[in-house]
Amino acid sequence: MRLTVLGSSASYAGPGQACSSYLIEAADRRVLLDCGHGSLANLGRVIDPASLDAVFLTHGHPDHFADLYALQAFLRFAPSGPLLPLDVHAPGGLLDRMVCVLSGHGREQFFEAFKASELLDGETVSIGELHVTPQSVNHEGAAFAFVVEAEGRRLCYTGDARPDAQVLAAATGSHLVLAEATLPEQFAGQAPHMTASQAGSIARSAGAQSLMLTHLWPTTPREAILSAARAAFDSDVFLAEELLSIEV
Ligand SMILES: [Zn+2]
Ligand SMILES: [Zn+2]
Repeated sequence: MRLTVLGSSASYAGPGQACSSYLIEAADRRVLLDCGHGSLANLGRVIDPASLDAVFLTHGHPDHFADLYALQAFLRFAPSGPLLPLDVHAPGGLLDRMVCVLSGHGREQFFEAFKASELLDGETVSIGELHVTPQSVNHEGAAFAFVVEAEGRRLCYTGDARPDAQVLAAATGSHLVLAEATLPEQFAGQAPHMTASQAGSIARSAGAQSLMLTHLWPTTPREAILSAARAAFDSDVFLAEELLSIEV
């Protein structure tokens, strides 16, 4: 199973960066986990976006879904003709809220482009031999972590989440935990996000082999969060960055 980071920024992207998005390639399938702003441009540097099998969205914050508008245009205006519809698995009602900013015609086009399915806690979505299980986490509104299983490997992407028993349950048994580490340590508990040391603790308790820290504000000092996570998790820790690609 190959993971490629398309966007590692939280909330807004720094120069040359993009917001939350991860490409998973396994079992001859390709899926996106989140589709934050700027991520489609990076996707096009890695694969032909026309070859995507599905998109999964963790929750309804724009840094996780904004480039779905751009993906709609890509699918519609593809040189080989419209490539519609693409499966999008998202929290219930998210796509309905997204179309509120579109014209009537734009709404019709949006729902031609995407076949929306509602994520349900614990209900696995299988795309061939690639399996994605959403697990509810505590953030703001409906929010999920994704457990991705294929080729005998297991990855947990936490999405945005508080560091509690629910995100630990999702992460447990994963080879790689791709964890948000949004908050500088001094802000622990002040927002529904994790610090790097909390992400490290989750990875340790989960029995993970490795931890990738992501969903970082562009201003966050990278060395500080890396050392905070390493103090809590005595195994492989690395930072997400755009176009980093690894075998899970
Ligand atoms: Zn976010
Ligand atoms: Zn969020």
